[in-house]
Amino acid sequence: MSRFGREADSEPEFGDAVEEDSGSAAEHLGTEASKDGMVPAEAFALLGSDTRIEILQAMLDANADATPVGFTDLFERVDIADTANFNYHLQKLTGHFIRQTEDGYEFRHPGRKVVSSIFAGTLTDHAQLGFFPVAGSCHTCGGDLHGWYVDEVLSIACVDCTTVLVRYPFPPGGIDERTPEELLQAFHHYVRHHYCMAADGVCPECTGPVETEPAYEPTDGGDFDVTVEHTCQRCGYELQSSVGVNLLDNAEVLLFHSERGIDLSTEPFWHFEWCVSDAHTEVLDEDPLRLRIDIPCAGDELHVVLDETLSVIETARQEQLSY
Ligand SMILES: [Zn+2]
Ligand SMILES: [Zn+2]
Repeated sequence: MSRFGREADSEPEFGDAVEEDSGSAAEHLGTEASKDGMVPAEAFALLGSDTRIEILQAMLDANADATPVGFTDLFERVDIADTANFNYHLQKLTGHFIRQTEDGYEFRHPGRKVVSSIFAGTLTDHAQLGFFPVAGSCHTCGGDLHGWYVDEVLSIACVDCTTVLVRYPFPPGGIDERTPEELLQAFHHYVRHHYCMAADGVCPECTGPVETEPAYEPTDGGDFDVTVEHTCQRCGYELQSSVGVNLLDNAEVLLFHSERGIDLSTEPFWHFEWCVSDAHTEVLDEDPLRLRIDIPCAGDELHVVLDETLSVIETARQEQLSY
């Protein structure tokens, strides 16, 4: 799952257990794979073909919910001439979205839920948001980004390496009458304000008091994985974030960017690696805890040191780095 996001009920149905008879698609997963199955980005990659979407649609049309659908029946319903090609796509879906039985093909539970989200279920009015391209590129591999909206959770991930940049619940009202670009802008504001509110001690869910604390774990490479945990003392709402995203309303960070022509209040935060990963965050000292985040912009860098309460205690600029 995404390392940064809301913890509670934010892991949607894509992550359901992959059964023993499942195909090999999960085998080449990177570290983002959840322990019990496929990550959403992988699910997206598997669905990134019109033929596969058509096959799933044909399964629905053939009432695969009631009885398994035979290969020939399915083949005839899909607009494809070549059985080998058809079979190739069918096999890609088998294991995760559908399963093959003696009587034919039927939906697997996660597959059925994904399909209903796309075609007929909770998102009937927003079918176009099943999967959509998102501007920007993956910080890890440079790949294209796509977003999807399922069960009121909006996710943005790389289609190539499956890294999830953002995953956050977003009420369906936020989608009405917005183009995907407008939706992404609204999502940026919504999530950014939630993180900043939580960091300021106000629960985005119930406005109760929130405790925020950095959490870090040593990695095999001698480095640290650093996250920030926000917990509402009243309703139990839990939010996990990067260190960087908590600085989106910091005056010095805002100024550093605006001087370089970037307005952090409107530029989607997932465009910045320091906001969606801990790649720019370092543990300087463990007792007392001191974290440093290095924020690059236009060749310059802003170093921000935070204490154990995530208060900024020092900033320094390093200008015109020679890369
Ligand atoms: Zn990538
Ligand atoms: Zn709360």
